[in-house]
Amino acid sequence: MKRLMILIVLLVMSIYPVAAADAVLSVVATTTIVADVARNVGGERVQVTALVPADADTHAFTPTPQDVAVVADADLLLAVGAGYEVFLGDLIEAAGDQEPVILNIGVEMLPFAEGEHDHEAEAAAEADHEHAAVEPVGVFGAEGVCEDADHAHEEGEAEADHEHEHGACDPHTWTNPRNVAIWAANIAAAFSAADPAGAEVYAANTAAYQEQLSALDSEVASILAEVPEDRRILLTNHEFMGYFAYAYGFELVGTVIPGGTTEGNPDPQALAELVSLIGEEGVPAIFAEVSANPRLAETIAAESGITVVTALYSESLSGDEGPASTYIDYIRYNAQMIADALK
Ligand SMILES: [Zn+2]
Repeated sequence: MKRLMILIVLLVMSIYPVAAADAVLSVVATTTIVADVARNVGGERVQVTALVPADADTHAFTPTPQDVAVVADADLLLAVGAGYEVFLGDLIEAAGDQEPVILNIGVEMLPFAEGEHDHEAEAAAEADHEHAAVEPVGVFGAEGVCEDADHAHEEGEAEADHEHEHGACDPHTWTNPRNVAIWAANIAAAFSAADPAGAEVYAANTAAYQEQLSALDSEVASILAEVPEDRRILLTNHEFMGYFAYAYGFELVGTVIPGGTTEGNPDPQALAELVSLIGEEGVPAIFAEVSANPRLAETIAAESGITVVTALYSESLSGDEGPASTYIDYIRYNAQMIADALK
């Protein structure tokens, strides 16, 4: 009889995945990176779904009616915020005003480094080869810090485009693992508020994950130690490595696509300037992401006779079989690709 019961339990377990059956909270994350951090914090108490799929580009994502239904049914919606998910405002409204948990709250924000180049007079950009060091603009969530970005998703896409022109914050904070430790704390607070019985589990999971992030931070620094001072230059397809550059002592000299997303279109003059910048600054390589078309980056690299790396992960993790299927692998992999190209 006992054996039969065990058999029945095993049979039921094979039909219903353990995590789903045992989960207390149903959580939707905007991206696979957010989802992975949420799973580390929530463990088996949460069932996490990502909206933007693996290998995909958040900047080009539009939620389907099915996505709206998933968000409407969820206990919590986790988002990067700071204007990153331009679809967020419409999605929240369509899903019945689900209040999202914004992970960037408490993170020290950097301005877009590249924005200046596009909108200043060309002559001024030409004269200023010094590239003033990027300075943080303040902690996100505090009054007056990245305010425009906050309003952007209420006003729609036109406003989101507009906002970049005024030097909005760069939302790609996760390229620095220290910022993801803040994300984990924000997620733990939200999970504990929604599921107080799990608070101790979330706190323990978060502490363990933050320790892994801290080890990752040291590991990345040692991977990048191979890159000599004068080759610590990053030129990326779109601007997503600002926080990585700031954390590990690299200079972000430019981007192929202007405006902080993959949706912008560089004009021919901007591309000509980029080619001359590459020569003048001795830029060793261009780094493009797997989730956006690298053709333009490849053309510029070929024209300048430099290396192009088209395999960085930016907005999303890889699938399970890929090299960046967790956030920790994503950072380690990108750091190794950069070190290999620049050392
Ligand atoms: Zn991006």
